[in-house]
Amino acid sequence: MKAASHALQNKINELKLRAFKALTDLSKCKSCGTCIRICPLRIREYGLDGKAITVGQCYGCNICIRKCPNNAISLYIYQINREKK
Ligand code: SF4
Ligand code: SF4
Repeated sequence: MKAASHALQNKINELKLRAFKALTDLSKCKSCGTCIRICPLRIREYGLDGKAITVGQCYGCNICIRKCPNNAISLYIYQINREKK
């Protein structure tokens, strides 16, 4: 049990060092608005060209990626560097 909670804590610490961004392939987006309606954080909006983009901190839930009818969204995962200089 102790080993399991240790592994869980390690996983939580690892996830804390990750950030997510849902990126739109603008050539595929048909401006249907699905991702804007379903994002639980309300961080998908139309950009100036009418294509949907991410405008806030993404949680990486994948909902918009799974629901986009044109496969226009992909999730970019990057590490946060918390080291002090
Ligand atoms: S769901 Fe896909 S096609 Fe529709 S607005 Fe969002 S990115 Fe564009
Ligand atoms: S991955 Fe989730 S939180 Fe991020 S933009 Fe898509 S629906 Fe919103």
